[in-house]
Amino acid sequence: MLTSTDVRPRPSYRPYRVLVRSVVRLSPSFVRVTFTGADLADFGTEGLDQRVKVLLPLPGIGYGDFVDDPEVLATGAWYTRWRALPAQQQNPIRTYTIRAVRPHLSEVDVDFVTHGDTGPATAWVRRAQVGDQIVLVGPDAGSPDSRVGIEFNPGSATTLLLAGDETAVPAVSAILESLPEGTVAHAILEIPRAEDCLQLRLGSGITVDWLPRGAAPAGSRLDPAVRGWLAEHLSAGARAVAIEELSDIDVDSALLWETPSEAPTGSLYAWLAGEAAVIKSLRRFLVRDCELDRRQVAFMGYWREGKSELS
Ligand SMILES: Cc1cc2nc3c(=O)[nH]c(=O)nc-3n(C[C@H](O)[C@H](O)[C@H](O)COP(=O)(O)OP(=O)(O)OC[C@H]3O[C@@H](n4cnc5c(N)ncnc54)[C@H](O)[C@@H]3O)c2cc1C
Repeated sequence: MLTSTDVRPRPSYRPYRVLVRSVVRLSPSFVRVTFTGADLADFGTEGLDQRVKVLLPLPGIGYGDFVDDPEVLATGAWYTRWRALPAQQQNPIRTYTIRAVRPHLSEVDVDFVTHGDTGPATAWVRRAQVGDQIVLVGPDAGSPDSRVGIEFNPGSATTLLLAGDETAVPAVSAILESLPEGTVAHAILEIPRAEDCLQLRLGSGITVDWLPRGAAPAGSRLDPAVRGWLAEHLSAGARAVAIEELSDIDVDSALLWETPSEAPTGSLYAWLAGEAAVIKSLRRFLVRDCELDRRQVAFMGYWREGKSELS
């Protein structure tokens, strides 16, 4: 007889051992890796900006047995087990976005930005080959919390602004391609080079500005473009009734991550992700200068200039 303790809910996130099925260079800066593996049939399919963790193999070790432990798979306790490992046995962990899921084919796509060999993820993807083994930690479709890791939450907003740099392109692309026909949305995407402008399947109310930065610093095209768009499109109805004091966030020591827990009720919803200092400056502009209600804006530092993800 089953007792209530025997029927444990499936964890929202768990490790999936996968193989590289294909590696396609989409443009000078983007590489699409398609992963496959028998149990990806259970991988969450909610899409949007849902994140996934990539556990990178350690030279000469690959992975410890913790990723296959039935208890880890049943409870999602992979992170606790990873933290308990000696530092030299901890696989590097980096965060990426699920660009597409095809459960019937047991396939998941992740679009990686390549930025030389400066970090373990970019170094791995530059050498990735069909058949390579890797571990994704991602949502389990069978869990009641399989939407965890999705930040896009526009509520009843009638106009959407999505803005970011190349690391946000996979999330913005997935969001835009999922919007119902008739949605009014504008995306502002700063990319390294003009050839990084990607083809998207967009509804009629959606527009995208691709802004190649070339040799200019990160954010130098995104920042003025977002300010300019808001100056032109922000109506009085989009402003907050009560202006909240904005606490400072030191992006050198803390993650910039502010996403509304409740759905916004204003007419505009803004979603911004990219280099943390660039997004921090835009946060100040949107909330303090434009007086947008913080429930209408999601701000996410996806990476930090000069710092690795876990430092
Ligand atoms: C929720 C979320 C979703 C994300 N989705 C994606 C995604 O789908 N695709 C994607 O490519 N990235 C995505 N990112 C960003 C990605 O996690 C970071 O870029 C990560 O730092 C890359 O790891 P790494 O091992 O290559 O470099 P790290 O070891 O983390 O960093 C090493 C050095 O590289 C620099 N660096 C890191 N990223 C970049 C970059 N993009 N360009 C230039 N320099 C960089 C750092 O400043 C540091 O100096 C996402 C991040 C988050 C939080």
